[in-house]
Amino acid sequence: MMAALLLGNVAAKNLIFQFLKIRTMNQALMDSQAQLIKEVSDRKEAEALLKQSEERLRFVLEGAEQGFWDWDIASGTVERNKRWAEMLGYTYEEIKHTTQQWTDFIYPDDRERAWSSINDVLEGRAASHKAEYRMLHKDGSIRWILDQANVMQRDAHGKPTRMSGTHTDITERKLLEDELKRQAHLDYLTGLDNRRSFMEKSQVELSRTQRYDTALSVLMVDIDTFKNINDTYGHQVGDSVLKILAMRFQAVLRNVDIVGRLGGEEFGIVLPETDIKEAVEVAERLRVVISETVVALPAGLPIHFTISVGVAALTERNANIDMLLHEADKALYRAKQLGRNKVCT
Ligand code: GH3
Ligand code: MG
Ligand code: MG
Repeated sequence: MMAALLLGNVAAKNLIFQFLKIRTMNQALMDSQAQLIKEVSDRKEAEALLKQSEERLRFVLEGAEQGFWDWDIASGTVERNKRWAEMLGYTYEEIKHTTQQWTDFIYPDDRERAWSSINDVLEGRAASHKAEYRMLHKDGSIRWILDQANVMQRDAHGKPTRMSGTHTDITERKLLEDELKRQAHLDYLTGLDNRRSFMEKSQVELSRTQRYDTALSVLMVDIDTFKNINDTYGHQVGDSVLKILAMRFQAVLRNVDIVGRLGGEEFGIVLPETDIKEAVEVAERLRVVISETVVALPAGLPIHFTISVGVAALTERNANIDMLLHEADKALYRAKQLGRNKVCT
């Protein structure tokens, strides 16, 4: 009896002990379950926040008309948005999510430059990527893209593992810039170089001539009694004469020659690798071509006009463009004095 009681006591104790142990374990289990639930919900919350901010970013990017790219460097996949594809005339479904797709779309001449900007970031030479380059549109046209990106993730060694960026279509701006640059160097009426551009190009040519010790000549051309043409036929006819003269000059001269409209009806011409004798021959050819040119009028008889030309060649004495032009101008003055429609040196 005693033994049974004693045994019962021990068994009860054991049972209580087991119960306590299980309860402790259960509590620990519940605690860790609660912890897990909290972690999961924290993570879910974080994921939701991330998703929300990514969606917001996407929304902003779509609104801003920007293409977006997100490159997982290790796997080589690149996530892009709809606009990225549409900017080049493709649907989102038509594009591949690879870096090769980007390379293929870049205008061949710009591929190396675009990649080298990315590589500068990957190899630590630059903090961020920013490049303007041309991409090929599906319709065969060219789009200028401003591409800007940053490293978004690095591994334990600091090596970039993820890079994200945006594409902005800057085609309109680029075309406008090119046109403004072109216009800044051109004479609006004749399409020849304007004075500034003529002087710049002439300076470059003169330096090259002096470096290689070759010949160079300059012509100064002025239309004879041009005021008469304006006064008799009107300013518009005067303008047509200027345009026709420019076309005739371009037909006679070589591509390497520099022709500029320096003032109203005054033109400067630089003839590289041309000595004084050859320059006089060119001047004479221009004089004859112009004297044989007929300008048709909307009403009345066609008109003729002539030019006077002063020629100067590069020597030790006149080793800059201003002096050369000045010398040619003096020769031009003599040509006018000798009765016009003449070439003088
Ligand atoms: P010369 O033989 O001595 O050169 O006589 P000219 O009449 O040509 O000389 P002048 O310098 O007196 O006249 C130049 C004229 O060129 C005066 C001006 O009205 C005209 N002119 C200047 N720029 C333009 C232009 O853009 N269009 C037109 N139609 N005429 C211009
Ligand atoms: Mg004149
Ligand atoms: Mg004049």
